[in-house]
Amino acid sequence: MCRHLGWLGAPVAVSTLVLDPPHSLRVQSYAPRRQKHGLMNADGWGVGFFGRASGDFSDEGVPRRWRSPAPLWGDASFASVAPALRSHCVVAAVRSATVGMPIEASATAPFTDGQWLLSHNGVVDRALLPVPRLAESVCDSAILAATIFERGMDALGDTIVEIGDADPLARLNILAANGSRLVATTWGDTLSILRRDDGVVLASEPYDDDPRWEDVPDRHVVDVAAGGVTFIPLV
Ligand code: GLN
Repeated sequence: MCRHLGWLGAPVAVSTLVLDPPHSLRVQSYAPRRQKHGLMNADGWGVGFFGRASGDFSDEGVPRRWRSPAPLWGDASFASVAPALRSHCVVAAVRSATVGMPIEASATAPFTDGQWLLSHNGVVDRALLPVPRLAESVCDSAILAATIFERGMDALGDTIVEIGDADPLARLNILAANGSRLVATTWGDTLSILRRDDGVVLASEPYDDDPRWEDVPDRHVVDVAAGGVTFIPLV
């Protein structure tokens, strides 16, 4: 299973979320603390973020991505640039490829439909998914992402329950953001939430030992927006 992390809040340097904390995604790429499936996450990484209007140039709402099929811990170029990347909304992941799935940048989260960034931590039987038009890769997560995009993010909970019922072995932990909302599901793996003074972090596992981290119960949707945080059970 992969590890992922999302941020919605004040603009911060991407490095402060993904590289700097003592148990950041960089460390989780070789020594995750709560991973139940797989030992490490060496099959690639991806960081996506949204820009904001500045001066007369605006890329507000445009998702930007940097993905690689190599381990995050060895990427000196990303480590050099990440302190200069600032964003109020980030989705990042490190990958442990499921057996049989391609190891390539296009199979690495976050996936996008041009509006949302989406990561999947888990596994799903591709034969049980409808064939979406715009999957970025034949990887199960890319097909699942395209299926979720086609059905619309407002139906995320219904889509997860439907696929989970069809594939009882599926693990369907989604993390997605569109610049003003950060949404996650728990279905078979861990998720924690950290409510900081300057924003909210959702992460497969805590990136430090801050006592404010809370575990999210399994089979829930977590919805983070300016109005606050909502937990909805998935039944
Ligand atoms: N099944 C997905 C893949 O192969 C995700 C794997 C995971 O969560 N470790 O990339």
